[in-house]
Amino acid sequence: EQREPIEEARPKTPVKPMTATEVKVNVSIPEAAERAAATGADGVGLLRIEHMVLSLGKTPTKFIEDNSERAYIEELVDGIRGVAEEFYPRPVRVRSLDAPTDEFRQLEGGEDEPREHNPMLGYRGIRRSLDKPDLFKHELEAFRQLFEMGYDNVEIMFPLVNDAEDVHQAKELMIEAGIDPEKREWGVMIETPASALAVDEMAEVGLDFVSFGTNDLTQYTLAVDRNNENVAGRFDELHPAVLKLIGDTIETCREVGVKTSICGQAASKPQMVQFLVNEGVSSISANIDAVRDVQHEVKRVEQRLILDSVR
Ligand code: PEP
Ligand code: MG
Repeated sequence: EQREPIEEARPKTPVKPMTATEVKVNVSIPEAAERAAATGADGVGLLRIEHMVLSLGKTPTKFIEDNSERAYIEELVDGIRGVAEEFYPRPVRVRSLDAPTDEFRQLEGGEDEPREHNPMLGYRGIRRSLDKPDLFKHELEAFRQLFEMGYDNVEIMFPLVNDAEDVHQAKELMIEAGIDPEKREWGVMIETPASALAVDEMAEVGLDFVSFGTNDLTQYTLAVDRNNENVAGRFDELHPAVLKLIGDTIETCREVGVKTSICGQAASKPQMVQFLVNEGVSSISANIDAVRDVQHEVKRVEQRLILDSVR
């Protein structure tokens, strides 16, 4: 089944401030795609697939055990496709699965999930994908099918990487799944201090972009559990340590030609927008309700930068 011609999607883009920094939108539920596209965002900076997967009622492992991997792949393709179609030809950055074990536990097959003291530091994101390539390959097969259908606006993003070895292994698995990393836009999230410090080596593996997941980057840099209200007052995405990691990463990425983005909640904070635009970030991806304000804030900061440069 091939996608409809490109003209169909074009008129959907409404009038919005023109900015050099792209402003994108985060999507977590495929049903929100139309509303997300109507913001005039320059694309989807983060499409989370956890909701899609958790709403199936069964763990991915259970799907495979039941020999229903085709159904699993089909669900992924359908969910992602709806968003890719809505935004075409604007890019849609899809993140591979990143659900912690405690979220899988409620599902059929969830009783087999490992019990962890600290699921946020545990078996999730790329760690799990690389540990279970036979499971991960079904996600990659969904991407392959989408490319084959003509959704060349789909981009692949891997969560919770720590170093170049993680990135290298993810790239190898893409190739094994029949995806050509040279032809596709792909990248990783910067969510651990380790990944921020290793970005030059990760770039050598050939990725196109990195995206700051400031929810996790803040949690891991400050050792503040993002879900623990006792330390919620210490959860500060604008902490100098977090900003230093982000600023240094943007600088390195600029030198090596890797695009930079943010898709954590902090993207909607005006101070973060100011910091990022000043540092020269390539794109900012915010929640649907925040896109408008971010577009205007980016415009304001860019205009001020131009004025400053001619003074
Ligand atoms: C983040 O960590 O900032 C992020 C966008 O990912 P998630 O919130 O899904 O962990
Ligand atoms: Mg995260």
